[in-house]
Amino acid sequence: MSISDILDQKSKAGENVLTEFESKKLLKEIGIPIPAQKLTKTKEETIGAAEEMGFPVVMKLMAEDIVHKSDTGAVKLNLKDKNDVEAAYDELMSIPSESEKQISVQEMAKEPITELIIGMTTDPQFGPALMFGIGGILVELLEDVSFRIAPITEYDAKEMIREIKGFPLLDGFRGKPKADLNAIVDILMKISEFVIENENIYEMDLNPVFIYDDGIMCVDARIILKKQQEE
Ligand code: ADP
Ligand code: MG
Repeated sequence: MSISDILDQKSKAGENVLTEFESKKLLKEIGIPIPAQKLTKTKEETIGAAEEMGFPVVMKLMAEDIVHKSDTGAVKLNLKDKNDVEAAYDELMSIPSESEKQISVQEMAKEPITELIIGMTTDPQFGPALMFGIGGILVELLEDVSFRIAPITEYDAKEMIREIKGFPLLDGFRGKPKADLNAIVDILMKISEFVIENENIYEMDLNPVFIYDDGIMCVDARIILKKQQEE
């Protein structure tokens, strides 16, 4: 099944929010790197998945009514062995939720130079718009972000990256390595192409994206589809 078939099916079922697991699966299909991930239900399955992946791992609770996972304790980082996984499983499963609960077992990504935010929103007048910023207080407090209406060219993507005030953080600030800017350009271009080809995408929030001196990895994502019109 193609990506657009999957999206059609989802919105026909009346569901318009993809879980983190589904969102990242879609990103992987369009060529955006994500940490290895596996969806599990039972404790045994979860331990098996972690052992197969190799420690340390990350575990997150996937449930439709949990949006800001860290706020509810639904993200467990740096689990080093079977005991950690068992304890995390019990804690995640005790988080109150009305929806079906599953666990996403993930590879623990190595520490980045900095966290990025890459997004797409739908402007009522101009349609899909792309957003770029550096994660944390730069975005939350200072609103240091850049926008472009899709589709963008490679030149636009390069400008989006360079025009934020926090750009020096990507350019070898205080002896840190320089970020792989081409990898950022590549993600921005891929999202632009994807939203132009798939008109039913309403919003995409890749937060955070880990940037390295050699490569990039999206560790959390949320994709929202347009609501299907009532017939
Ligand atoms: P939230 O729903 O609260 O945004 P996230 O999935 O973004 O939850 O996880 C919270 C934080 O945990 C992230 O900002 C990131 O710093 C860290 N994190 C999440 N997933 C991973 C991972 N697979 N590897 C390493 N760090 C991760
Ligand atoms: Mg997040």
